[in-house]
Amino acid sequence: MDYSTMAAQEIRAGSARFQAILIERNAAGQVRPKWTRLQESQLPKAAVQVRIQYSSLNYKDALAITGKAPVVRRYPMVPGIDFAGVVVHSDAPDWQPGDRVLLNGWGAGETHWGGLAQRAQVPGDWLLALPPQLDARQAMLLGTAGYTAMLCVLALEDQGIAPGSGEILVTGASGGVGSIAVALLSRLGYAVIAATGRPQHADYLRGLGAKHLLDRAQLTAPGKPLAKARWIGAIDTLGSHTLANVCAGTRYGGAVAACGLAQGMEFPATVAPFILRGIRLLGIDSVRAPQALRKRAWARLADTLTPQSIETIGQTIALQAVIPAAARLLAGQVRGRLAVNVNA
Ligand code: NDP
Repeated sequence: MDYSTMAAQEIRAGSARFQAILIERNAAGQVRPKWTRLQESQLPKAAVQVRIQYSSLNYKDALAITGKAPVVRRYPMVPGIDFAGVVVHSDAPDWQPGDRVLLNGWGAGETHWGGLAQRAQVPGDWLLALPPQLDARQAMLLGTAGYTAMLCVLALEDQGIAPGSGEILVTGASGGVGSIAVALLSRLGYAVIAATGRPQHADYLRGLGAKHLLDRAQLTAPGKPLAKARWIGAIDTLGSHTLANVCAGTRYGGAVAACGLAQGMEFPATVAPFILRGIRLLGIDSVRAPQALRKRAWARLADTLTPQSIETIGQTIALQAVIPAAARLLAGQVRGRLAVNVNA
């Protein structure tokens, strides 16, 4: 019997093995991630099986793998809030074997086995068709961070913030969401102020199109209820005092898209910018965003960024490099994005 016949029989029997990151929790409550092999019969039951080509390492994945925050809701868990790959088998009417698909959120890597593996089984309505301009690697260089950055840009646009309206501030600028937000906004013609704590990445951020750099230390400490108004819009990935200061420095009638908590979950602000300058705070969620909005965001991402800018923003690592990379990401040592080649 040749290898492909054996492999087909194994797949039918659910005994084919695949590589994955698996997070277990021991009796003492300690979280232990490992790079391992699993059987397809262990996958959660769902309508569509996907052969994953690329996943990525997002901030939330790093929290899950290190156990630094209660992202994982049941153990054992395959982490990975996103993936891109090819449909192997489908009981869902919208998908056929061979379709190129991607997934963001919906609980993947939190309540349902996720993308840091060579196989996944998910409900059909969690999947999107891969935009034709992108291959699986490019899609995961962008990943949930890129899709979230685009959701933030769309939210600002929907509030009437246009390139001529004034400067836009991006915090956490050399991280994943931040880098892609800087690139997107500058490609769309906005003047971008990139706030970063890593001056060594100044050339990188200017290369992505940032007009001005701001030392993040000017935003991270407790500030005044109202500061000198400078930017008309902002994309904040940090929360905490930074988000409060971002609101305090927003010009009359401006808007702030809040998507992250890399500094902290708290929001120690006053109502002053809201009631005296009429600014708007826009909450951004990528996990349960409706499909129509996801399609809109991915189409705009694919149309706006060039292959060259996508390459500039990220690098690719192998599945077995994910666990040490998670600690580096939370320590603020990763620039831009990490796509994960699950077959390397
Ligand atoms: P990264 O780790 O890639 O980037 C975060 C950046 O924030 C860092 O590069 C650093 O930027 C800055 N930073 C990190 N720690 C601190 C700190 N303690 N104080 C001040 N600045 C800090 O993460 P992502 O870009 O992938 O994600 C950013 C945030 O967005 C996370 O909180 C994540 O959970 C959230 N997120 C939310 C989503 C949603 O659906 N709402 C979806 C995706 C992400 P620099 O060195 O340039 O200062």
